Parts: sequence; C-alpha cells; structure tokens
Amino acid sequence: MKLIRFGQPGKEKPGIIDPKGRYLNVSAFGEDYGEAFFENDGLARLAGWLDAHAANCPEIRPGERIGPPLVRPSKIVCVGLNYAGHATESKMALPTEPVLFFKSTTAICGPYDGVILPKGATKLDWEVELAVVIGKRASYVDEAEAMQYVAGYVLHNDLSERAYQLERGGQWVKGKSADTFAPLGPFLADKTEIPDPHRLDIWLKVNGISFQSSNTADLVFKVPTLVSYISQFMTLLPGDLISTGTPPGVGLGLDPPRYLVPGDVMELGIEGLGVARQVVGAHR
Ligand code: ZN
Repeated sequence: MKLIRFGQPGKEKPGIIDPKGRYLNVSAFGEDYGEAFFENDGLARLAGWLDAHAANCPEIRPGERIGPPLVRPSKIVCVGLNYAGHATESKMALPTEPVLFFKSTTAICGPYDGVILPKGATKLDWEVELAVVIGKRASYVDEAEAMQYVAGYVLHNDLSERAYQLERGGQWVKGKSADTFAPLGPFLADKTEIPDPHRLDIWLKVNGISFQSSNTADLVFKVPTLVSYISQFMTLLPGDLISTGTPPGVGLGLDPPRYLVPGDVMELGIEGLGVARQVVGAHR
C-alpha cells in the first residue's frame, strides 16, 4: 500500500495511491497517519477498510498539493557516513558504530514544496536518503526481530547547511534542522511494497545533471542493524523516522564544492519509492 497526504500545510488529509495509480481521498477512514495509526495496526485496518470502501473514495483533484505522507513524528534519527564513498568524500573515517544525529521534525515538508535557504546560508547541500518508518514501539530490540518494527519506507532529502553543520562548532543538528530541510515522499510505501530495502537504486539530480547515483546495497549498517542499535539508546515510537544516510555525490564532496542557490531544481528518487522535486528559494 502507498500512503499519501494532501492539502494545505498543516491541514493535510490522508489518501492512498491505489494499484491502478489513482490518488484516492481516504478521509472517510477517519484516521490520519500518525503514532496511533501505526501503533494500532492501522496499515492492516486501512487495507481491510479499502476492500469495502475504495470504490466510494473520491479521487484527489490533480494539482492538489501533496504533503509529507505521515503526521509529524516524535523524532527523526539520522545516520551519518553510512555509505563508504560518502565518508571518503567527507574526508571522515568510516565509522565502526553507526553515527547518529537528530534532525528537527519542524524541518518536514512535502515532496514538491520549495526548499528555503535559511537566513545567512551559504552552503546548502543535498542528500538523497532511504528513510525507515517505525511501525511499533521499539526498545532494546534484537537485530533478528528488528524488521517486525518497520512499517515501511519513504524517500527523504536530508538538506544540510554545511557551514552551520561543520563550521559553527557543536553538533550537526544545527545544519540539518531549518524549515523545509526534510522533504518526505511522494508516498510512504509499506513493507509489502519493498520486500528488500537493500537493493534499491537511489539517485539525485540538480538542474538535470546527475550527482548521486548508487544503490542501497552499499549501506554500511543495514536497516535491521540500525533499528536494533538505535533502540539500545532510546525508544522509537510508531511513525518515527530513521534516515539511513546518503550515498556519495553531495556538493560538499565536489572539487570545488558546489552548493545550492535559489532557482536550483533538485530531482531525486529511490526505486519503488517514487520521485520528488524541489526548487530552492530565498528566505523572505
Ligand atoms: Zn544525511
């Protein structure tokens, strides 16, 4: 099943993309895609409800804004340097344990929303990533059981202001958390859509030129390892996101580095998770 949300920012309604590719409004199901939905087996209940009611669901108007495909979660846990090539281009050693950092959940926006350069930003960079959506409360989970805690997957652009991240001292969170720095979607694919998350092509272009082109087979720490590992340090709640890290090809790693300016167009995708497109705009 593919979940979407549509409507104005902060007022999104739930929908799905059906097997025929139609965008259906499922507001009549009565639940949005948040913690309670995932915790109470919402994916299975929605599938059952659709068997009886899909024929009566209105189609979503073409041109309607598509929002992030889930309600703002309790946290976004990001994994740093999780592709060998990206660690090399960042001039950092490949970690022996996952590198974790947080990204503010207020950074979340829709897959086609504009990305806004923060005030004073000079080094805005892209990072296409596979993000994992947690399906049930996870604390001290064994790696062998970890996949039971995964609800699905979503395409994520982990926008990063490198000067704030790397030149202002302290933790990376400062360069990762501005408004619009976490476009999600176009849709959330549940686990049945993605039988193996470790064999997906992953790519990003800027102004039509390919910068990132890789495969999730190259993840250093794989999805079950990450879910289990993170759950040793904190409780993951249903709907929480783990962003698994970016492959090589970010602007920081180029010689000379190439950073985003207003008017630049990012297009990104992951096999089975759709394609997103974001235009960079100036802060107003
Ligand atoms: Zn990242």
